[in-house]
Amino acid sequence: MKCTVCKEDAVIKIPRHNLKLCEEHFKEHIIFQTQRVIKHFNMFKKDESLLLAVSGGKDSLGLWLILKELGFNVKALHIIMPFGEYSEKSLEMVKGCAKKLNEKPLYIEANKYLEIDFFKALKIYKKPICSFCGKIKRYILSTYANRNSYTTIATGHNLDDETAFLLGNVLHWHIEYLNKQGPVLESNQFMPKKVKPLVRITDEEMSFFAKTSEIEYIEEKCPYSRNAKSIFFKNILNEIDAQMPGTKSFFYLQYIKNIKRIFFKESDEKLKGCRICHYQTYNDDTCFLCNIKSKMKRTENGH
Ligand code: AMP
Ligand code: ZN
Ligand code: ZN
Repeated sequence: MKCTVCKEDAVIKIPRHNLKLCEEHFKEHIIFQTQRVIKHFNMFKKDESLLLAVSGGKDSLGLWLILKELGFNVKALHIIMPFGEYSEKSLEMVKGCAKKLNEKPLYIEANKYLEIDFFKALKIYKKPICSFCGKIKRYILSTYANRNSYTTIATGHNLDDETAFLLGNVLHWHIEYLNKQGPVLESNQFMPKKVKPLVRITDEEMSFFAKTSEIEYIEEKCPYSRNAKSIFFKNILNEIDAQMPGTKSFFYLQYIKNIKRIFFKESDEKLKGCRICHYQTYNDDTCFLCNIKSKMKRTENGH
């Protein structure tokens, strides 16, 4: 197998682009694809200060390297979750990558920043741990970005994450989730803009990119993760893509380009700012977190 670009030995095949690439041209391809997405969706510009959420996984660490290669003004932020060994290892991976990139990331301990105990708060929240964890992380990223004048937050969600989510939500017609999905979520008066520059790149490609770039990353799933459904959808979509290369990418990009705006016009949800912390909330005067905190206080006081 020879590289389509230089005819040296190829190390990876990308059927949906009809490409076989050597290591050098593979890396170039990934960086170019990311750059194209950033431009196409008008995600951010060179002079903007960008906050990148890094988890210690292949996607966000790989994206860190790509954004630096492309010359963007990016600051990485890692949220330290209270998940024991898993969180310690994630932190170690972020530190390792920071050293390699000669960068100083920001570290925020979730419990300290929010002044809560994650597991006690979860008991009050009463919904699955993954959805609570995601909500907590979005809260930290958004409020930190707002307070420190970052206008845009980037995450490492890739094509497989996005299509698995899309398929799951289409199968169950979870309209409210579909409306909020996309490569760009525009800012509102309470939240900065959120972008996903890796939406054209697959899990397999990002693993390979991290490996060939000598980035160490955490491969284990979070021990609390109950999200077996997303792995199931990813496997099914990969089987479809193996038979019909490009289907996954078509499914997602056509949804974003043509379908989403047919389904959704203006959102009629009424957004408000939380009376206490100014984070966004839909129904109550206080946000999910301030609600939990006041419930915790009431329980402590024996009411
Ligand atoms: P996940 O939901 O774990 O697949 O993560 C999706 C994206 O969220 C990652 O690519 C990161 O950009 C971001 N993220 C997840 N966990 C963390 C964390 N502990 N700290 C900062 N960003 C995170
Ligand atoms: Zn080549
Ligand atoms: Zn609040």
